[in-house]
Amino acid sequence: MIDKLPEVRGKYVEKASLADITWFRVGGPSDVLFLPEDADDLASFLRECPSDIPITVVGVGSNLLVRDGGVRGVVIRLGSGFSNIEVDGKMVRAGAAALDASVAKVAQRAGLAGLEFYGGIPGTIGGALRMNAGSYGRETKDVLEHCLAMDRDGEVHKLYAEEMGFTYRHCSISEEWIFTEGSYVGTPDDPENILARMNEVTTSRQSSQPVRARTGGSTFKNPDPDISGGLKSWELIDAAGCRGLKIGGAKVSEKHCNFLINEGDAKASDLEQLGEEVRARVAAQSGIDLSWEIRRIGEELAGGI
Ligand SMILES: Cc1cc2nc3c(=O)[nH]c(=O)nc-3n(C[C@H](O)[C@H](O)[C@H](O)COP(=O)(O)OP(=O)(O)OC[C@H]3O[C@@H](n4cnc5c(N)ncnc54)[C@H](O)[C@@H]3O)c2cc1C
Repeated sequence: MIDKLPEVRGKYVEKASLADITWFRVGGPSDVLFLPEDADDLASFLRECPSDIPITVVGVGSNLLVRDGGVRGVVIRLGSGFSNIEVDGKMVRAGAAALDASVAKVAQRAGLAGLEFYGGIPGTIGGALRMNAGSYGRETKDVLEHCLAMDRDGEVHKLYAEEMGFTYRHCSISEEWIFTEGSYVGTPDDPENILARMNEVTTSRQSSQPVRARTGGSTFKNPDPDISGGLKSWELIDAAGCRGLKIGGAKVSEKHCNFLINEGDAKASDLEQLGEEVRARVAAQSGIDLSWEIRRIGEELAGGI
């Protein structure tokens, strides 16, 4: 496939392992992994890449389940050319490959409050924009001023927060568009106070979530409280008796039962089957249909789920 792709300054890797770059550590390879050098390189790739070649962008894979058959076409992963973080007055501008936690740290040091919740989310700004990442009562939509996104022709679009169609763990911008940068507005505060709040969140997270496991974070979105009577996904999963449930090398976390864990030798199909089993048991027990928050990409292997 590489011979059909345009010349770039960045790097192409054929049959690149995606298990190595995702938190679950499972899944097949991408036909080609493209690591663009910078925004101009990405734009010229998009302009020249034949339109019949599928393109998928990934961050650091903290919300991704790559299926065992891998991903056809080109997977794009943004790297150091997209990880700059700058503060200008009350604005924090971050490249899409910057880690949420690094952005929170830079804002804290600059005495800008509001981004503390990014401190414990293990993804990138690109993933946060796509997923409207949030925690402890705040979401990306609450702090974003605008972002930049590239369409499939390499054209750059400036999108203000209100144009993003943000809802819970979702934004409505075309899946083909690649976020390259986010600009956030902070509120001036004492760096020590901000740090104290960040530390509180980290402690609370470490005691309630398997943060060092091979996981994808919350597996299912919390249902609409009007439908679930205010019960969160983990409570419905627990009530359906799924805490600790296993299929192959995949297990429902004992610590936080909305997290699935790869115990070491799980296949993507074990994790996906386990998720579907949990959904079925919750539906049978409570009548509520949980929807996946984790993004599942790629193809199943013949004989898989
Ligand atoms: C231990 C743990 C705890 C977590 N806690 C939280 C939490 O508290 N709150 C929360 O919201 N999430 C949480 N998550 C989930 C995850 O960290 C977030 O969804 C994060 O925003 C994903 O970012 P990423 O870079 O890993 O994206 P990926 O997982 O690589 O991708 C996720 C989606 O974003 C898209 N994407 C990635 N980069 C771009 C880009 N540049 N442009 C366009 N689309 C892009 C991908 O195509 C994919 O659809 C947790 C995950 C783990 C493992």
